[in-house]
Amino acid sequence: MRQVFHYIRGRREPGQGGRQGPVFDPAAGRVQAQVPLGGVAEVEQAVQAALGAQPAWAAISAQRRSQVLFRFKALIEQHLAPLAKLLASEHGKVLADARGDLQRGLEVIDFVCGAPQLLKGEFSQGVGPGIDVWSMRQPLGVVAGITPFNFPAMIPLWMLGPALAAGNAFILKPSERTPSVAVELAVLLEEAGAPAGILNVLQGDHELVEAILAAPAIKAVSFVGSSEVAQHVYATAAAAGKRVQAMGGAKNHGLVLPDADLDLAVESIVGAAFGSAGERCMALPVVVAVGEDTAAALRHRLVAAIAELRVGAPEAPHADYGPVVTAAHQQRIEAHIALGIAEGAELVVDGRGLRVPGHEQGFFLGPSLFDHVRPGMRSYQEEIFGPVLQMMRVGTLEEGIRLICAHPCGNGVALFTRSGEAARRFAEQVEVGMVGINVPIPVPVAHHGFGGWKRSAFGDLNQYGTDSIRFFTRTKIVTQRWSGAGTRASSFLIPTGRAD
Ligand code: NAD
Repeated sequence: MRQVFHYIRGRREPGQGGRQGPVFDPAAGRVQAQVPLGGVAEVEQAVQAALGAQPAWAAISAQRRSQVLFRFKALIEQHLAPLAKLLASEHGKVLADARGDLQRGLEVIDFVCGAPQLLKGEFSQGVGPGIDVWSMRQPLGVVAGITPFNFPAMIPLWMLGPALAAGNAFILKPSERTPSVAVELAVLLEEAGAPAGILNVLQGDHELVEAILAAPAIKAVSFVGSSEVAQHVYATAAAAGKRVQAMGGAKNHGLVLPDADLDLAVESIVGAAFGSAGERCMALPVVVAVGEDTAAALRHRLVAAIAELRVGAPEAPHADYGPVVTAAHQQRIEAHIALGIAEGAELVVDGRGLRVPGHEQGFFLGPSLFDHVRPGMRSYQEEIFGPVLQMMRVGTLEEGIRLICAHPCGNGVALFTRSGEAARRFAEQVEVGMVGINVPIPVPVAHHGFGGWKRSAFGDLNQYGTDSIRFFTRTKIVTQRWSGAGTRASSFLIPTGRAD
């Protein structure tokens, strides 16, 4: 059986403890590899490697670091097909989507190749007699990233790109369910010219996370995963004095106004609800129709569009989406469908029990559609993270905004309308971090930044964009005067900007 490794100081390492976990092939429904589950000893090893490599990496110019990142990007592009295949084999997403996973990550590497510009400080001349003030951004040292299963390349690249561009060493803990691509990325980074120890990959589960959070040498933790774990990571890391950003789960709504282009809305909603089997934090698992006429037209078209969906293995040429990640997750989604029925929602399309020929043991689920879902239902309040679309009905735009604002999550949202006035009001009032107007998955481009509100993100700086440079650096502000440059200040009074 294939063995996955840690990657420490430029070498694949088996790890020191005996614990191992299974890595599934979700399309085949069987274990395809074993992954070591590390802990304190591996964190110590990786921290030593990172501490050894980081000062020299920080000391070279930002321009030279960005040249390494340019080559890294080119190498990933060169190896895109095998990386996408490996990623899809552990996650289950279709190959084109796996390539998208890598490509969206590469857009962030592209962005941080501008490190010399991004790291530039500020300068104020003559703030007092002969006194100038300037600021610089310095790396934190050793920093860590903890990532979820659903974007095994994109989310690690969101984090490690800005961290490395800023001169830090990085310890990456990918999900134990999709652990392999991270190691291949670390190998390619070294081939691109980064020194060994600058990017270490540690494999493991919650025990490893606790060891990372407890390690004093790790100065910052960037986390993406479910809300409960995000909140725990945020609180624990902050209590240990670390800088922390922790992105959590989601329950994104698509609000459809009576004036919407329904063809566009239905095409967008079906793609966003079922793409990647609904295992995206920016999926659109809830559709809210404004008015009964809109609801009836929408439901009719959704049922027709869902009937056209094709579910298959990642390499199947025409599959719209693949299996879910594990049998346990499949059962959890099925339990949520049963819960929705028990709570009184109407199951219009039932995706359970799907068999894909040639992949009878695979973790497949057909698309499910619920109608008449109501706010008090637990199946609505909780994130399902599977191919299940829940439909709700409201009377007005305002009622729709109130419904969305009342949900504990606030990651992404979409409005479908032809009215500029309604779109403007919606964007202003909705309590959600990322808003799409006739755009179903409004994942911002690399030079903006990614982050939700409420239980979808703990901390105040976004992933990527200029926020990520702020997160992975600390600012030093220098106030300087050279002798003879001006009058001397009184040594007893606090200096002020006043002339008298
Ligand atoms: P998860 O929370 O189970 O795991 C995320 C990471 O935390 C993994 O590396 C895992 O090993 C670790 N972990 C799991 N349980 C832990 C525990 N009890 N203590 C400490 N560490 C623990 O999430 P997942 O199932 O891998 O990913 C899906 C979730 O991630 C969904 O909720 C999804 O919405 C969310 N997500 C959010 C974003 C975002 O940017 N907001 C992006 C992608 C995914």
